[in-house]
Parts: sequence; C-alpha cells; structure tokens
Amino acid sequence: MKTVGMTHEQFKTQVCSVCRHENALEAEFCLKCRRPLSLKTLIKMEEKKKEPLRLITSDVTEQMVQKKVEEILAKHNSNAQAQAKKEKEVTS
Ligand SMILES: [Zn+2]
Repeated sequence: MKTVGMTHEQFKTQVCSVCRHENALEAEFCLKCRRPLSLKTLIKMEEKKKEPLRLITSDVTEQMVQKKVEEILAKHNSNAQAQAKKEKEVTS
C-alpha cells in the first residue's frame, strides 16, 4: 500500500528561530528556551495579555464614569431644587 501525498514518515520538526532547538511540529513553545515557536502563538499570547486591560477600559471605567456622572447630577439637582425652593419662599 502506498501513502499518497506523504513522503516517508520523517521526523517533522520546527526549528526554534532563537536557539535552533528542534521541536515537535505541534509544539507551541520551544522546549529549550520556552519562546513561542510560531507567529500564531505569539499573537495569541499578545491578545491574552491585552484582554484584562480591555475589560478594564470598556466595562469597568464606563460604570465608574456613569456612577460619577449620576453622583454629580444628583448633587446638581438637589442644589437646583434647594435654590428653587428658596426662590419660591422669597416670592410667595
Ligand atoms: Zn528555542
């Protein structure tokens, strides 16, 4: 039986670009220097790093800002109400 499209079962390796260590093809990191072997892995790592930051900037800050705005508005409204009450007392 012939195996189509495959040259004989060679050792398939990917050589680390940093230390030249030969790693298994499916390996994501170099066994020797622990660096990511492919750009894909590197990008994946970078995206993981960014994730917590993205969470902070979108949801958390928005909530914080909203809370602060509500606080300021409430303060402003109560001031305005007090002012209006005073004016009413004076005119009536
Ligand atoms: Zn390496």
